[in-house]
Amino acid sequence: MEIRPAEHLWGKTVSETEDALLEETDPKARVACIGPSGERLVKMASIMNDKHRAAGRSGVGAVMGSKNLKAVVIRGTQKVELAEAKQMRDLCRTVRQEVIADVKKGSSLHEYGTAYVPIVTNELGILPTYNFQTGVFEDVEGITGVVLTEKYLIQPKPCFGCPIACGRHTRVEGPEIYSGEGEGPEYETIAALGSACGIGDMAAITKANYLCNDLGMDTISVGMTISCAMEMVEKGILPADDVGRPLRFGDAEAVLDLIRQMAYREGFGDLLAEGSYRLAEKYEHPEFSITAKKQEFPGYDPRGSKGMGLLYATSNVGASHMAGDLAYMEVFGTPKKLDPLTLERKPWYIKHFEDLFTVIDAAGLCVFLSIRYLCDADYEVAPTRMAEVLSLATGADYTAESLMQAGDRIYTLERMFLIRAGFTGADDTLPKRMLEEPLPEGPAKGHVVELDVMLPEFYQLRGWDEDGVPTDAKLEELGLARQSL
Ligand code: SF4
Repeated sequence: MEIRPAEHLWGKTVSETEDALLEETDPKARVACIGPSGERLVKMASIMNDKHRAAGRSGVGAVMGSKNLKAVVIRGTQKVELAEAKQMRDLCRTVRQEVIADVKKGSSLHEYGTAYVPIVTNELGILPTYNFQTGVFEDVEGITGVVLTEKYLIQPKPCFGCPIACGRHTRVEGPEIYSGEGEGPEYETIAALGSACGIGDMAAITKANYLCNDLGMDTISVGMTISCAMEMVEKGILPADDVGRPLRFGDAEAVLDLIRQMAYREGFGDLLAEGSYRLAEKYEHPEFSITAKKQEFPGYDPRGSKGMGLLYATSNVGASHMAGDLAYMEVFGTPKKLDPLTLERKPWYIKHFEDLFTVIDAAGLCVFLSIRYLCDADYEVAPTRMAEVLSLATGADYTAESLMQAGDRIYTLERMFLIRAGFTGADDTLPKRMLEEPLPEGPAKGHVVELDVMLPEFYQLRGWDEDGVPTDAKLEELGLARQSL
């Protein structure tokens, strides 16, 4: 390992940084780096991998920036030893054949990437639209996977060896203002930089995605923060003069302009770079920030997907679908359909999914593949096959139960970290809009999130007291010690 000076890279974009590093190290190396936004400690700065893949949420790019760390370059030269190589190969072959068979039968994820989702969420009335003022977007036809595939897709982009290939390599040739080439957009980007901002033009969204990637920012928090500003201008709370330019829903040029300003902390972008909560708080209307623990919501309005509401409120990283995405069951019916509008067993499912996603993260697995092919296809979604894979890879003796307990342990440890940092049960909440303003239209019309009903049961299932603090008995069960934290 070698630490090198990076003065010559400081200020460069993600693509410039990666190109320079591959040239000066090894063209076969892989690069994780930050862009200008991470250098400026923008709250939603991401760590970009291979130019286009973002460790996007919670401002991890700002953490690198705060340490003056521009990039990490790695070139693997040795084989990864597997404990049971032959059995592992056999199992991988079996799983791969199952995936290929499903792809042949027809897979939306394969055909359209996650861009197939806006139609699904719009039909359920939970597609974030106009800063979550509604869940139905009248211009949804302009932001579908079909549009992306027919007009802008160059080719699907798989992770290594994956037959699903849900990534999208795209190119926009015009109009000039939107032209570019890169990867994306994914569903979350389409929701945040599209419908949430009232933009129904896939070319504009794709360009905004390219910009966020190259400047190193999380498309979700960027889009949702700009949509919050748009609503505040619309409501007369935020003077357009403060923004320095007109700003209204549907204005794609404004979005592109503000993305650049945010990354470089120029003009009004300096305040936007702090995220929607600090923006709305400055103008004394924090209720317009649709956040949990000050992180912007992803693309499922929880008033029509109740489990997701409990997830956003309790996630250790603030609102995040990737912390325990029950939309798999509530929205997509994978592995089985759960009614998105009932509260029944939702606290159990959210605890279960939070622990499960924690294990998937810790193991470095893909969530799409893990839920569909490495977990039982029943309502309990036990990671039985995942335990087999990890046991064959490492030689350790994992079971579905021991993995779920590992997830519980990691999750609880994270919670204890938050408590030491000053968080309390009062932070396990949602914006007023989610708790008190019913959705105005669509199948979930009239619904809010009944968090007060779900939260006490969730705490109980987690072994936390009524203030959301893990009990001594829970810590003992998990082999954790309070004093060591
Ligand atoms: S590994 Fe997962 S994220 Fe990557 S292409 Fe396959 S399904 Fe998509």
